[in-house]
Amino acid sequence: RSDGLAGKVAVVTGASSGIGAATALALAAHGASVVLVARREDRLQDLARQVQSTGGHAEVAVADIADEAQARLTVERAVSVFGRVDILVNNAGLMLLGPVTGADTTDWRRMIDVNLLGLMYTTHAAIPHMRTQGGGHIVNISSVSGRGASPTSAGYSASKWGVGGFSEGLRQEVRLDRIRVTVIEPGVVATELTDHITHQDTKVAYEGRIQTMIPLESEDIAAAVVYAVTQPERVNVNEILIRPLDQG
Ligand code: NDP
Repeated sequence: RSDGLAGKVAVVTGASSGIGAATALALAAHGASVVLVARREDRLQDLARQVQSTGGHAEVAVADIADEAQARLTVERAVSVFGRVDILVNNAGLMLLGPVTGADTTDWRRMIDVNLLGLMYTTHAAIPHMRTQGGGHIVNISSVSGRGASPTSAGYSASKWGVGGFSEGLRQEVRLDRIRVTVIEPGVVATELTDHITHQDTKVAYEGRIQTMIPLESEDIAAAVVYAVTQPERVNVNEILIRPLDQG
């Protein structure tokens, strides 16, 4: 544990598993109070108890961030319970890989709604509070697929490329409000992300590819988030790209 983030309040979306859960634990271990956002309440309650058992402060905010009103409420919860919002980690996401040809376009809408619009809604809700407080930090979890693409990643890459564009414009806009913006672009991380792929051939192929490598752990990405948010205020870590050593 460290107290480098003592007094800070962090909202973490997608905290019910994988990178989001690891990030919430890491931020709490550095002294931040955390608001845990996702749809699966049981998972969030377990995580909140874990944070509280080590002396930390956690609040559960069950929300589908594809719904603008629900997304906004997660930020308002942070302000009503803990009095402020210093860090927003936009991590919730879906990776519904598959070819464009013959795609189930529902997959595209889900990815744009969660990966891109959901992140924009929470950001929109957080900025006024951060401005009033005199600063803040928005960390957006993109992907290597936010800067490169492959035949089955077009829809996912579209959503993550959008995160990159939004983040860069946002960075330039809000820096004078002392709000920092960081984009993190992980390569393959061992999480539940692949479970939801609906295109079966792509799912099998992707899972086979993971078998050929030692993927990153969620904690590796959590460490990158902690690095970005614990830098001196003059330092704006714009972008971090992290691949497993085994990933070409
Ligand atoms: P997981 O599937 O383990 O976690 C995804 C999280 O997002 C869950 O907590 C899930 O919670 C939440 N989520 C999904 N939809 C919604 C929604 N509509 N509203 C609120 N929360 C939602 O995968 P990861 O931890 O791997 O993914 C986290 C992020 O990292 C994603 O943005 C992903 O694109 C990105 N990433 C992951 C990589 C990897 O290889 N694993 C590589 C590069 C980027 P719930 O279902 O309870 O709502």
